[in-house]
Amino acid sequence: MPHVLVLNASYEPLGVVSMRRALILVLNNKAVSLEDSGITMHSATSAVTAPSVVRLTRFVRVPFRGPVPLTRRALFARDNGRCVYCGAAATSVDHVVPRSRGGQHRWDNVVAACRRCNHVKSDRHLSELGWRMKRPPAPPTGLAWRIIGTGHRDPRWRPYLEPYGGREQLSEIDHHVDHRTGEPDPPTVPLDRSPHGRTLHDRRGEPAQQLSA
Ligand SMILES: [Zn+2]
Repeated sequence: MPHVLVLNASYEPLGVVSMRRALILVLNNKAVSLEDSGITMHSATSAVTAPSVVRLTRFVRVPFRGPVPLTRRALFARDNGRCVYCGAAATSVDHVVPRSRGGQHRWDNVVAACRRCNHVKSDRHLSELGWRMKRPPAPPTGLAWRIIGTGHRDPRWRPYLEPYGGREQLSEIDHHVDHRTGEPDPPTVPLDRSPHGRTLHDRRGEPAQQLSA
């Protein structure tokens, strides 16, 4: 089932929820649909067109946003699914400074790599191999990355995400329909189910439960 992009009342991208959850937000007047998915959902008494993008009717204060969680999927998106050393299709994650030599698992030390380069490089430094990278790896910035990193994507989301970073990756949306990484879907940003129902918690990269509603 496709997922739905949730925007704050200010149009900032907040997260991704299930279609059912998005419909509940709309039916409870907590959100309005900005884009239709074209998918009709049926209840006992009626049929409604499910949204693809919704905007919350009330502004949600997001108290703190840590760095974009470093997941394999987000990393492959940052590096456009290509090996940073040779440009072949990436299949693995490489630590630029090898972990065995003190390299950390951080955005500025991990890159997407093909199996061959990863194998050849092994636990050596780039300088030992005479290899270079076009640009040093860096953490992705911008709210769009919270969405890109989930791996859920829809061409209808592009205009809403492009002002918030990841332009290059978003332009790929129409081409790669992905699951290149073969990973299970990462957690979506949870919408709190407190009685007020309006607080959006950023779990700072902790595993969040997938919304079941
Ligand atoms: Zn390579």
